[in-house]
Amino acid sequence: MALKRTKIVDIFNPELIGEKVCVKGWVRTRRGNKNVQFVALNDGSTIKNIQIVIDLEKFSDEELKPITTGASLHVEGQLVASQGKGQTCEIQAESIEIYGTADPQTYPLQKKGHTLEFLREIAHLRPRTNTFGAVLRIRHNLAFAIHKFFNEKGFFYLNTPLITASDCEGAGAMFQVSTLDMDNPPRNEDGSIDYTQDFFGKQTSLTVSGQLEGELGATALGAIYTFGPTFRAENSNTPRHLAEFWMIEPEVAFNDITDNMDLAEEFIKYCIGYALENCKDDIEFLAQMYDKNLVERLEFVLHNKFIRLPYTEAIKILENSGQKFEFPVSWGIDLQSEHERYLVEKHFEKPVILTDYPKEIKAFYMKLNDDGKTVRAMDVLFPQIGEIIGGSEREADYDKLLARIEELHIPMKDMWWYLDTRRFGTVPHSGFGLGFERLVLFVTGMTNIRDVIPFPRTPKNAEF
Ligand code: ATP
Ligand code: MN
Repeated sequence: MALKRTKIVDIFNPELIGEKVCVKGWVRTRRGNKNVQFVALNDGSTIKNIQIVIDLEKFSDEELKPITTGASLHVEGQLVASQGKGQTCEIQAESIEIYGTADPQTYPLQKKGHTLEFLREIAHLRPRTNTFGAVLRIRHNLAFAIHKFFNEKGFFYLNTPLITASDCEGAGAMFQVSTLDMDNPPRNEDGSIDYTQDFFGKQTSLTVSGQLEGELGATALGAIYTFGPTFRAENSNTPRHLAEFWMIEPEVAFNDITDNMDLAEEFIKYCIGYALENCKDDIEFLAQMYDKNLVERLEFVLHNKFIRLPYTEAIKILENSGQKFEFPVSWGIDLQSEHERYLVEKHFEKPVILTDYPKEIKAFYMKLNDDGKTVRAMDVLFPQIGEIIGGSEREADYDKLLARIEELHIPMKDMWWYLDTRRFGTVPHSGFGLGFERLVLFVTGMTNIRDVIPFPRTPKNAEF
């Protein structure tokens, strides 16, 4: 009977020493002399490689020739305690089957130390590097932590639609979805495109947020969260924006803005704590490679209470900072990344939750404060990242919400179903959106959002 494969993550187990084992994976490096060769094999299950020791009395040069970086192997042999430093055990090869070769002349990951920019150009192969292996394993663990957190708190996972007919979500420019013939679309008499003939009988787009539907779920199930892809066609070529990203949006009936802040803080700390506990090797690798302070920064966020501060106070701090900002500060401005980072990195040196923004710079559905000028918004600002979460207590009052919709000329035909939540059994409720990739950025210490999603979608870039 064939020997069962052991994943490399499970091979560093003292109980297996002396056993015959089977491993499968890709060659990271091969070195050695004319008596013995060493192959570092990785199978993606862990950042660690297992060392395969090849005695040249048992294998010919000809047999070993195709074993170059990137080749895929099936190796069987005895697991033995290792003399070499940096590893606890290694495999004395008895049989080697080569699944696939990787021509050294053309395999792009031949040597170590490629720049992240170069690796973006070979995004189809970069998961095979140590860096992207680490990032993608951490990403998986964070996704799992998110589901675990909400499940343990009794939230229900609600799947909201990706194709939407409402263009009033207001969170950004949208990608249109259509099956009409782009070269020759049906037209109305006035020359405009006749969308009644389109697939859905109306104009549709990819969603920029699942929140509005999330509110329908929350006012039925009590507490829900969404976790799905989100699309924004903004042409913002920044290290923190993608055209396709993943968002987590909890929405909770009966929560006010304070409950909402408590939930956001507990949630984000839970995710960071989970990663520190379950992704130790990968985080340490990234810390060593890119960011010596990574673990310290994660621990710091985990163990410190976030500052909570009204927007108006933040403006005063920025005005009195003596700092020269590219975008000047005054009450009413939408804060830029430079302002957010000044507050978080220089002034408080802690994550900050800013609340009570001017209504003009926030979405129509946010609850109006008694001052008539500000709304119960909350943005969570993080070191290195800036805004990681945006949320609010929602306007639960039908008349006030309607007034806001009319003020902003949002077409009512798109909004009737949303307003029904306020017509029938309306309740105070709150929610927020966490950008998943911004969380992964923070936890991995990477600095460009293109490096924390397997296949980034950005302006002019959808190759792989
Ligand atoms: P920003 O001001 O950073 O562009 P936003 O205020 O437009 O973000 P929201 O509409 O509040 O974003 O979305 C909620 C969260 O989704 C943000 O706090 C952020 O973490 C994330 N997010 C928003 N836009 C993007 C994007 N283009 N790429 C990746 N994440 C995003
Ligand atoms: Mn926001």
